[in-house]
Amino acid sequence: MEKPAFLDRDRPDVPDLVVPGGVTPFYLAGQPVRGRLIRLGILADALLTRHDNPAPVTQLAGKALALVAALASALKFQGSFSLQIKGDGPVSMLVADCTNTGALRFYVRTNDEALEALLASTPNPTDRALLGDGYLALTVDQGADMERHQGIVGITGDDLATMATHYFDTSEQHACQVMLACAMTDAGWRAGGLVLERIAGEGGAQNEAETAAVVDDASGENPLLSADDANWETATILAATLRDQEVLDDGLPSTHLLHRLFHEQNLHVSQPRALAFGCRCSRARLIDVLERFPEDDLDHMCQDNGTIVMTCEFCNKDFHFPRQSIAVGR
Ligand SMILES: [Zn+2]
Repeated sequence: MEKPAFLDRDRPDVPDLVVPGGVTPFYLAGQPVRGRLIRLGILADALLTRHDNPAPVTQLAGKALALVAALASALKFQGSFSLQIKGDGPVSMLVADCTNTGALRFYVRTNDEALEALLASTPNPTDRALLGDGYLALTVDQGADMERHQGIVGITGDDLATMATHYFDTSEQHACQVMLACAMTDAGWRAGGLVLERIAGEGGAQNEAETAAVVDDASGENPLLSADDANWETATILAATLRDQEVLDDGLPSTHLLHRLFHEQNLHVSQPRALAFGCRCSRARLIDVLERFPEDDLDHMCQDNGTIVMTCEFCNKDFHFPRQSIAVGR
């Protein structure tokens, strides 16, 4: 079994921070709707402030963290859910991932010159302006022996929530509604979101005749709209009333917030789940990586003072290793 992070003295000096109620799963009884309310709390500030990015980039990263937290918490196996966005904009790469136990991490790569130019002309750019054109990939990793599942879509829409919704619309998954928020508050950076999923509910999946009728009806008002369709639509309309400030307000408990939205919809709140500072780097793991390099490469990486520096991009931490301490050629 892997050593728990708090016992691992090889870990870098990063906070062992756990937010107990970070994820609140819920469902609407008798309706084809389930969802998760995500609130990173103080974890958002701890993760986001380790990286020195301009506010709009931090905001995008915070929303990405909330998104992967929402998606990973639906996993029914050990593994992780990762989001990777690659575009031709000033933010050339964004990676965020979350394990099924709620361990979160991220990094972004920016083209600083392009970013400066964009922010000079547009102080509050959209996510799209930051990312440009490119693609968004979602990967489910179930460990070394298992197959990885990856889905890729082009970047569309102005914000990350729209991009994620587009992903679900085009993949064979069920309908999804995504809301994401991140902002600097009086208490520091906060991030969160709400993901609604349409599942096969108590009313069961629609039958084919119903589906055909919905498609055929040009008037927009369909008398054959099933109860499931109506319930899903109502839930999405209610969810759309959720405001960023509500999601980011530490003083408003998650259960209150959900009751505010769905109190008339047979809301059932499930056991909340924790989110945590989730970088998995450690000195031992990095030494393991270094020992696989040939002597020549190690000499090349070595600085004048005789040390090799490796940086964990996720927690933005430099690790220093004396060149002499790396054993090679076992
Ligand atoms: Zn790290």
